[in-house]
Amino acid sequence: MSDNWKSGTKAVHTGTRRSQYGEVSEAIFMTQGFVYESAEHAEQRFISTGDDEFIYARYGNPTVKMFEERIAALEGAEDAFATASGMAAVSGALTSMLKAGDHVVSSRALFGSCLYILEEVLARFGVEVTFVDGTDLSQWQAAIREGTKAVFFESVSNPTLEAIDIKAVADLAHAKGALVLIDNVFATPVFSRAFELGADVVIYSTTKHIDGQGRALGGVILGSRDFIRGTVEPYMKHTGGSMSPFTAWIMLKGLETMRLRVRAQASAALEVAKALQGHAAIDQVIYPGLEQHPQYDLVQRQMGAGGTVVSLIVKGGKEGAFKFLNAVQIGVISNNLGDAKTIMTHPATTTHQRLPEDQKASLGIADGLVRVSIGLEDETDLIADFLQALDGVN
Ligand SMILES: *Cc1c(COP(=O)(O)O)cnc(C)c1O
Repeated sequence: MSDNWKSGTKAVHTGTRRSQYGEVSEAIFMTQGFVYESAEHAEQRFISTGDDEFIYARYGNPTVKMFEERIAALEGAEDAFATASGMAAVSGALTSMLKAGDHVVSSRALFGSCLYILEEVLARFGVEVTFVDGTDLSQWQAAIREGTKAVFFESVSNPTLEAIDIKAVADLAHAKGALVLIDNVFATPVFSRAFELGADVVIYSTTKHIDGQGRALGGVILGSRDFIRGTVEPYMKHTGGSMSPFTAWIMLKGLETMRLRVRAQASAALEVAKALQGHAAIDQVIYPGLEQHPQYDLVQRQMGAGGTVVSLIVKGGKEGAFKFLNAVQIGVISNNLGDAKTIMTHPATTTHQRLPEDQKASLGIADGLVRVSIGLEDETDLIADFLQALDGVN
């Protein structure tokens, strides 16, 4: 029956395991280990753990299992492995499946830490990575070769909000036998159709929209049962990047309200983008849900909405951007996204500071660029606040 539930119902109920007390809210099994009834029983568990049997929290835990089952059901994946952070998920997914001599193709526009894994860590272990402009299919086609092990990309890039055509890249990758791994943070599980479009592995930083309230770091890797239990789990459980039961409980509670939050944030983001478009203090409003966005049609097909982040290029470079950031009263200056609070980031001096100037330029990270993650505040207040701040820049 639960397989037929719509996602709203799954988000509230799937994966629930009740203890003998019949608690309504999911229990936090804050335990590192589990007691065996006998020596024989312990021996048996180490040979094979059943569905609701656990041996050590690094390997699995009932609260973490509830979260894994719920997010897998929502994303339409066979299975999931929850991790300590989004980066534990990205690095775990890649390093668990790759070895020296393998070849990977990746889009160039990546979150800074993802870039570090692909550019520095994998290279150190003898994995060859070819970087492409992810929006240019001919570059993917030229780079993916017979024997390429994996392709990796962010379906919507941070912070310039370029969308990559999942189906087209997946078709090219699968023709050469490569697995498709997607960092899907900006699409969110609410607007994701990644598996339907051909993804083999989908990764989230649950720190973002899944928690959605800025409380905890977490991540998750979703994929086939074979990939998750055969490739990811042995690597993660021995290298130590598992999610804590307390974090899993926060993320479970986050999933219950995620759909309502993310839809409200995306609809407010569209209103904000429309209201700021054409303002005299702005060179460009970048929002994938605006018809003016170069990949509007692709984004509508792939996500059905533009997401919760709006990027602005404020006139006057860094000085204009800083004036704007300092004048906004509701949004806070920080570097998370997907939060209930509107959060504003100046990528050129913070998240992407370490990149050389030419790389910033090629990624479109202008000095005037401000990334705005729209929260749950009243959108009319947000718009009025942004407008008064922009008027001050002029
Ligand atoms: C935040 C983020 C990550 C890293 O997640 P953490 O939970 O901070 O480790 C990876 N990829 C993208 C696209 C992100 O936005």
